[in-house]
Amino acid sequence: MSEAINVAEIFGEDVFNDTVMLERLPKKVYKDLKKTIEEGKELDLATADVIAHEMKEWAIEKGATHYTHWFQPLTGVTAEKHDSFISAPLDSGKVLMSFSGKELIKGEPDASSFPSGGLRATFEARGYTAWDCTSPAFVRHDAAGATLCIPTAFCSYTGEALDQKTPLLRSMEVISEQSLRLVRLFGNTTSKKVTPCVGAEQEYFLVDGEKFRLRKDLIYTGRTLFGAMPPKGQELDDHYFGTIRQRIAGFMKDTNEELWRVGVTAKTQHNEVAPAQHELAPIYAPANIAVDHNHLVMQTLKRVAGKHGMKCLLHEKPFAGVNGSGKHDNWSITTDDGRNLLEPGKTPHENIQFLLVLTCILKAVDEHADLLRESAADPGNDHRLGANEAPPAIISVFLGEQLEDVLEQLISTGEATHSLKGGTLETGVRTLPDLAKDATDRNRTSPFAFTGNKFEFRMVGSRDSVAGPNVVINTIVAEAFSEACDILEKADDFEMAVHDLIKQYATEHYRIVFNGNGYADEWVEEAARRGLPNISSMVEAIPALTTEKSVRMFERFNVFTRAELESRAEIKYENYSKAINIEARTMIDMASKQIIPAVIRYTKSLADTVVAVKEAGADMSVQSGLLKEVSALLADTKKALEALIIAADKAARMEEGKEQAEYYHSDVVPAMAALRTPVDALEMIVDKEAWPMPSYGDLIFEV
Ligand code: ADP
Ligand code: MG
Repeated sequence: MSEAINVAEIFGEDVFNDTVMLERLPKKVYKDLKKTIEEGKELDLATADVIAHEMKEWAIEKGATHYTHWFQPLTGVTAEKHDSFISAPLDSGKVLMSFSGKELIKGEPDASSFPSGGLRATFEARGYTAWDCTSPAFVRHDAAGATLCIPTAFCSYTGEALDQKTPLLRSMEVISEQSLRLVRLFGNTTSKKVTPCVGAEQEYFLVDGEKFRLRKDLIYTGRTLFGAMPPKGQELDDHYFGTIRQRIAGFMKDTNEELWRVGVTAKTQHNEVAPAQHELAPIYAPANIAVDHNHLVMQTLKRVAGKHGMKCLLHEKPFAGVNGSGKHDNWSITTDDGRNLLEPGKTPHENIQFLLVLTCILKAVDEHADLLRESAADPGNDHRLGANEAPPAIISVFLGEQLEDVLEQLISTGEATHSLKGGTLETGVRTLPDLAKDATDRNRTSPFAFTGNKFEFRMVGSRDSVAGPNVVINTIVAEAFSEACDILEKADDFEMAVHDLIKQYATEHYRIVFNGNGYADEWVEEAARRGLPNISSMVEAIPALTTEKSVRMFERFNVFTRAELESRAEIKYENYSKAINIEARTMIDMASKQIIPAVIRYTKSLADTVVAVKEAGADMSVQSGLLKEVSALLADTKKALEALIIAADKAARMEEGKEQAEYYHSDVVPAMAALRTPVDALEMIVDKEAWPMPSYGDLIFEV
């Protein structure tokens, strides 16, 4: 038996959290910092100095030697630069450990090697990181020792966002402001802030480390580029929620423990649909903290897998033909006094507010479906969305039977007089049904599903930060709230106006509601009839960022400037091209140096056998038939390889940007698929001993 742990005791042990601050900071400093955290008040340098000093003392007690501003540039992963606490040596030759308020609040990493999408060309190469004091600092223990990690935002010297965090924090302010306007209309005078809360469910694969090292595709691209299906796939559904094997269980135990120590509320763990696939979900938290924690989850999964001789694959589609991985982004908005705006109310009054919130969200999602789709676009997700395992690439909203019924009544009669579950509530002017909580969400095919008191955006890729999707959700919903408030704040008869507006929004945006099977072909046709966008690839999704509609909205709410949006689009095109280029090069390498030589050796031994059997005067038709088949596929492979080399070379010579990305998508990706086909056919018939790498079966059934 392994040693027992006391979760309550270790939880948050390495976090500079409220308890630690209360204990260590002078009262006044603590109060000032709380004001900054809760109300966004600026922190003065003297206060920051005191906090920095205490934070350093605390971190050193935990064994920390270095500190780092931990940030999220547009590379998709987090970045950090470590500085030790030591200061210039004294005359005595000794050093002091120091950490100033200035060092805590602001860092100045050289920004020139992070993607800026042209933003920096016209500005300065320097960037700065700024402490996000609403996400607590923590000490991380790893091979480098212990490091004090300070969550930060990363901007150019002139203030343009170069990261995921800055726009997220901006969008959180915007949704707070507009939500407050909305709740004030309904008589709430006490709430001071509204926070979007996020719970990100993380899917991942685990494979054996030794086998991983024998596959160049996994090493370089995170996914397999070749591979025939094993005789058994996931058809038995015996893995989903199945008993967790011991090796995996040990891994999960360590992962949870590490996460708990840094304050991540790892809560749920289970096997997923595919063999070797698993999921980890934390308890939801304010959006910026949830984003940071999701990065910690991904990093911890990888590090702990290594300790257990395994590799954690976070790619959206590590194995063709096997379910891929995603991340469900659960989202709700809650006031500082604990009222969730997505919770159907207990009184008619609350229910009207809820229906207004709901129809505003329908409007937001309908009007900006393209932006939401874009926020889930990455090269890996191109293999997943619409492939009958993840939501289709068409954005729609699932509401459940009861809410759909209420909206239908509203649309057809202007009133909703009954509900499928609860009774009727009198409101005076008109009637609205009692919205008993409808917890039935059996529809796993919907990209944007209402699940009781939150929305679940299910399109996000497993590797991606959830920052991007939440920036979009926060801003589009804020826009809808703001437009509704503009109308309602001026209304003479508020009750009438609110009913009319709910009816109007429900009617105008009902086309986005879909409760049926998102995997069915009929839905694709139906969605086209409704005029809903069906954007099937990342390259086609990116233009949504810079439409006039998008620029107008993001600029109006100061979430992104036009220049920032254009730079992000550029970075995405580049990221796509780079990803496909690496995949194509890896395929070329594996086919030329591993697969073709192995097959040639195999045909030689087959040919020798044919001759020997013939000499012996026996029937050699099986051997010669196989030889012919293998030789023909080998010739197909060589031809497809040459075509891929030509396409990849042409792509690489093109200027970086949209056109290059489009060419990778339209020409290089199909050339890769064309090379894979004969190779996978070969794998099915070539002697397993002769095949130069572990098979799908080896990788996913033998962890
Ligand atoms: P599942 O989607 O697998 O049925 P749950 O719905 O219970 O599981 O929870 C999934 C995730 O949603 C968890 O991370 C949970 O903390 C989060 N969640 C639950 N309630 C909310 C909420 N009000 N706002 C945001 N996230 C939430
Ligand atoms: Mg879920």
